[in-house]
Amino acid sequence: MESTLRRTWSEIDLDALIYNYRTIKEKIGKDVKFLGVVKADAYGHGSINVAKTLEEEGADYLAVSSIDEAMELRVNGIKMPILILGHTPKEQVSRLIEYDITQAVTCKAKAVEYSEESVRIGKTLKIHIKVDTGMSRLGYLCEGDYFDNGVKGICEALNMQGLDAEGIFTHFAVSDEYGEKNDEYTKKQFKLFTDVISEVERISGRRFRIKHCANTGAVARFPETYLDMVRPGLLLYGYGEFAKKMGLKPVMNLKTTVSTIKIYPEGTPISYGGIFVTDKTTRVGVLPYGYADGFLRSLSNKCSLMTKDGPAKVCGKICMDMCMIDITGMNNVEVGSEIEVFGKNNSIDTLAEIAGTIPYELTCAVSKRVPRMYIKDGKIIDQELMLRM
Ligand SMILES: *Cc1c(COP(=O)(O)O)cnc(C)c1O
Repeated sequence: MESTLRRTWSEIDLDALIYNYRTIKEKIGKDVKFLGVVKADAYGHGSINVAKTLEEEGADYLAVSSIDEAMELRVNGIKMPILILGHTPKEQVSRLIEYDITQAVTCKAKAVEYSEESVRIGKTLKIHIKVDTGMSRLGYLCEGDYFDNGVKGICEALNMQGLDAEGIFTHFAVSDEYGEKNDEYTKKQFKLFTDVISEVERISGRRFRIKHCANTGAVARFPETYLDMVRPGLLLYGYGEFAKKMGLKPVMNLKTTVSTIKIYPEGTPISYGGIFVTDKTTRVGVLPYGYADGFLRSLSNKCSLMTKDGPAKVCGKICMDMCMIDITGMNNVEVGSEIEVFGKNNSIDTLAEIAGTIPYELTCAVSKRVPRMYIKDGKIIDQELMLRM
C-alpha cells in the first residue's frame, strides 16, 4: 500500500460526508428518515467507510443495487437496514433473510417467486414495493389504464405469505432538471405515487411503514415529496448544482503527481495520433493517470487539471496509464508536485460537462488500481487498495 501512494490516489473526505449528511438532515427535518444510496461502491467512494460513517451518524437506511453489494456491507460489520433496489434471483432469498436485507419487489412475478421461496424455508422476507410512476424502468406499472391492475398486484403482494411489505417507493425521472415540463412530470409522478398508496391502503386496510421517493433532485427542489424518508445519492457526495447551492462539500478529491517533466520545441506532436502539436517551446508534465484509472479518454485535449500555479491543459490523447499537461511558465510545478484531477479546487461538475456526462460517471469510473485514502478529523484513518495482493 505504502508504495502506491503519491502516484495517483483518491482522498475520501469523511468530514465532508458528515457535513453534507448533517446539512441535508437539517433541511429535511427530524421527522423524515434518511436513506443513503451507497450502490456502485458508494458512487466510487468506498461503500464500507461511507456506510460506517452514515451508521455512526444515525442514518436510517442504506440502498445498494445487488445482493453482493449488500453482503459486502454485512460482512464488514454494517448492521443498519439495507435495501436492494435492483434484481435478486429467487435462489438468494434465504441469504436475504439470514442477513436481514430488504428486497425491492418490482412486479407480480417476483412477488410470487419471493413468497414461494420464503414459505418454503418457513421465514419472512422484508420487502419494499416499487411503483413505476413514469421512470419506465422497474416497478409495478400503475399509469393510466394500468392503475387498477397495478393496485391489485400490489394488494396481492401484501397478502402473500412470507412477505412483509415494510415500505413502498418510486423513482423520479427528471426531478433534477429545470423547466415547467419537467416540474409537471415530477409532480405527476408524485401524485400517481400517493394515489396508488391511498388506494392500496384503502383496499388492503394496511399501512406502509416507510413511503419514499425523493432522490437528489427532489430533496433539493420538492420538499412535498419527502414523505417518510428521502433517498439521495449525489447530493450526499456533494456534487452537482444542488449541492453547490446548499453549500455542500465534494467528498472525493482525486489527485495525481507529476512523474516527469520534458521541454519540447515548437512543432512537437504529443501522445498517440499527434492531435496536439506544440505551438511554442512547451514544458510538459507527464502524469501517471490515464483511462485505466478512470480518466475518460473523451476528455483528451479538452480539459484542465489543477496545479498550485492554476489550471494546466491536458495535451494530446489520454493514454491507458498516463496523460500529459502543459505546465509552461508554472515555476512551482516540479517533479513530484501534486495535481488535483477533481475535488475542492477543480470542480468535477465542470469536468463532467466538458465530457458530456454527469459527475456520477466520473466518480464511478475511478478504477480499482487507484488507492483510496479516508480522511476524518483531518487525519488519514484508513487506506484501501483493491488489487488482488
Ligand atoms: C441511484 C438511485 C437513487 C439516488 O439517486 P441520486 O440522483 O444520486 O440522488 C435513488 N433511488 C434509486 C431507486 C436509485 O436507483
